[in-house]
Amino acid sequence: MFSKQKPLWGKKKKLKSSYDVVLIGGGLHNLATAYYLAKNHGVTDIAIIEKNFIGFGGAGRNTAIVRANQRTQHNVPLYKEALDLWPVLTKELDYNLMFNNCGNLNLMHSEAAMKAARTTISTAQFHGVESHLIDAKEAKELVPALNISDDITFPIHGAMFHPPGGIVRHDAVVWGLAKGAAEKGVEIHQQTEALAVGTKNGKVTSVTTSEGVINTKQVLISAGGYSAGLINGMLGIKLPISVLTIQAMVTQPLKPLLNHVVSSGAYHCYANQTLKGEIATGAHMDPWPNYTNLSTAHFIKHQAEALCEFLPCLKGVRFMRIWGGLADMTPDMAPILEGNNHFDGFFMNCGWGYFGFKSCSSAGKYMAEYMATNHCPDMLKPFALKRYEEHKLMGETAALVSYSPDN
Ligand SMILES: Cc1cc2nc3c(=O)[nH]c(=O)nc-3n(C[C@H](O)[C@H](O)[C@H](O)COP(=O)(O)OP(=O)(O)OC[C@H]3O[C@@H](n4cnc5c(N)ncnc54)[C@H](O)[C@@H]3O)c2cc1C
Repeated sequence: MFSKQKPLWGKKKKLKSSYDVVLIGGGLHNLATAYYLAKNHGVTDIAIIEKNFIGFGGAGRNTAIVRANQRTQHNVPLYKEALDLWPVLTKELDYNLMFNNCGNLNLMHSEAAMKAARTTISTAQFHGVESHLIDAKEAKELVPALNISDDITFPIHGAMFHPPGGIVRHDAVVWGLAKGAAEKGVEIHQQTEALAVGTKNGKVTSVTTSEGVINTKQVLISAGGYSAGLINGMLGIKLPISVLTIQAMVTQPLKPLLNHVVSSGAYHCYANQTLKGEIATGAHMDPWPNYTNLSTAHFIKHQAEALCEFLPCLKGVRFMRIWGGLADMTPDMAPILEGNNHFDGFFMNCGWGYFGFKSCSSAGKYMAEYMATNHCPDMLKPFALKRYEEHKLMGETAALVSYSPDN
């Protein structure tokens, strides 16, 4: 006999005509913000409005890599706190998020890239994040499957080794946060599309949804790859965001052979072995803006060629599944987080590109503080939209560019 199970986040409720807070998008960031609004600030009259189902966006499509060794002084502390929160959240939510702190190796393919990595490592170490430069032999000791010969397109000179990073199970994070938020009174309305945000005299007043109009004084849009289109379409705020498709895939399950996350900027490729034994791999990004989740033959070929060079034991292994998702890319590869700027009561949290999984817990925590107090926490101040008008870009892009083979 099958028992009819209730979702972890409770029964479907009827949408009310007003809420204190409306969060548009049922992805990682809004689920985390709702959880922390309720837990840390006692704000529970919240509706999360999700067009499809929670986890439909990048939340359920990402490759689950977490780390804190970002490039710049403003980003490292936010990502460090997020990394430190995984074990805490696992306990608090009473839900196994399957955090596997197996460590990340960022391969370097030239001496210039090794030098550039030293800058990133110094910033990480300055902020208390464990990160070291290791040579090719040491990398091979950690990952015996690695090809460190000169006989490949981009020979490996060494790696940036970040032991505390790793992998967290992405759907467990979605379900755990949804459960935690719902237990505190947050309502999650799936299959409900946000159509418009109403404003009057410079203030947010309502959200029109496919299930009716909601009166509210606070709205947060955090809808991953859909954010920039929604924010422009609903409120006329243009954001410097390009939406690109990233693809990922997994191989057939294999015996354990890869105990770390290995990534290479030169090959545009990363790989890790899941707890099921599959090699999960991704990173190449389609270079043209689009809104599709489609995968392409070009990507399969690229990924197979890259993997077979630096992990040659994978030759002949079959890919089993492939999928795509959207990445909302800003010019400096850092997110946009702000509120009460264009309209009182309007907040946005977007532009995470392919870093929005690892950051969702800390970003959600600080967005909750921002919304509950109407004061921007110091941690979020550098991420305001005005940095683009003031030409104060953050320089996260430098990390990727400097590890490319041309440097
Ligand atoms: C293939 C791939 C691999 C990735 N790998 C990593 C990784 O390893 N590590 C990492 O840190 N990040 C990774 N990312 C990025 C990460 O997944 C995203 O940055 C993150 O999911 C963004 O979270 P979010 O909550 O902002 O949005 P999402 O999780 O994308 O959720 C947005 C939600 O908004 C909903 N929505 C859209 N329009 C409306 C509307 N009008 N009304 C209501 N709801 C709406 C959508 O249905 C969706 O569910 C990857 C992304 C992809 C695609």
